[in-house]
Amino acid sequence: MSEKAGSNIGHSEFQKCCQKVIGQLTPETLDKLNESKDEETRVRLLYEAVTKIEITPDKDRGKSYELALEGKNVGNSFFAKKEHQKALKTYNMAIVLCPQDTNESRELLTILISNRSATYFELKEYKKVLNDIDYLIEVGNYPQHLQYKVWLRKAKSYDALGNERLSSDAFNQAVESLKHSKLDEEAMEAKLKEIDTARKTKVNKVDKHGLELVPSSSPEIFVGAKEYIAAHPKVAFEQDAYQGRFAIAAEDIEAGTVIVEENPHCSVVDSEHALNNCQYCFVSVEQPIACPMCAHVVFCSTICERLANKGFHRVECPVLEVITKKPHTFSV
Ligand SMILES: [Zn+2]
Ligand SMILES: [Zn+2]
Repeated sequence: MSEKAGSNIGHSEFQKCCQKVIGQLTPETLDKLNESKDEETRVRLLYEAVTKIEITPDKDRGKSYELALEGKNVGNSFFAKKEHQKALKTYNMAIVLCPQDTNESRELLTILISNRSATYFELKEYKKVLNDIDYLIEVGNYPQHLQYKVWLRKAKSYDALGNERLSSDAFNQAVESLKHSKLDEEAMEAKLKEIDTARKTKVNKVDKHGLELVPSSSPEIFVGAKEYIAAHPKVAFEQDAYQGRFAIAAEDIEAGTVIVEENPHCSVVDSEHALNNCQYCFVSVEQPIACPMCAHVVFCSTICERLANKGFHRVECPVLEVITKKPHTFSV
């Protein structure tokens, strides 16, 4: 299948908006625009016409229940064949595409997240298993009759990570959740036995290194000088009539030393990276968290998702397809 999600607004939509704005200008305003020397004058001249332009983006914002459902089936077949990387890629795509506006769509989303966590479990990436279980609990709507599976996976992951207390709690929850399962008496007996064996076996222990929650070597923290806080203390500034203002090394500086570090005044994830980097904090994302409303961005965590959707992304989300060159889409 090589279908694309989302409407094909394409890169010309922004151009069309610009042409509409120019089309509304009177000859006098156009003359003034051509003669204007500064940005402020130009913005003032165009502002009224710009505010009259109606932007009508795709109401689905790239989301598609059908494609997400297809992604689930394709992902499940990769999972069954133990093609775990392909399964992950497909589940990631389906999670981002899955709408979240109905109980039915949120249920599909939680199943996709659960299936992704099962894939991470097979790959022994237990922290990612736990991340996904937290994510699906936050979304809600995970079918109650399947919850014992998630609790069992959670228990085994905590066990592998060496957290006996949380593992034991999750095993108890797995047993408790079995009463909501649709298993017949025989299957229920077998499942109880499986839980009991898993509790006693304590397999899959990961090595100590895998237990570290933070990297042991934290990156060096840059400390600037008193006067120029963005510059290393060994950097000095001078000025002369020939060179103007320039920086020099006041002392020997070891090769590889960071000499200037400054936070950007503003920053944005470009459209090419919108599905690979967190829209809020920019880190590279392996286990994407979806925007509940659009399929054009990803987040590294539900915290970043919430912060973005309380702020800038709430405004950008409905018009992202119009302001970027092309709609961000996944191919299944
Ligand atoms: Zn982030
Ligand atoms: Zn969005």
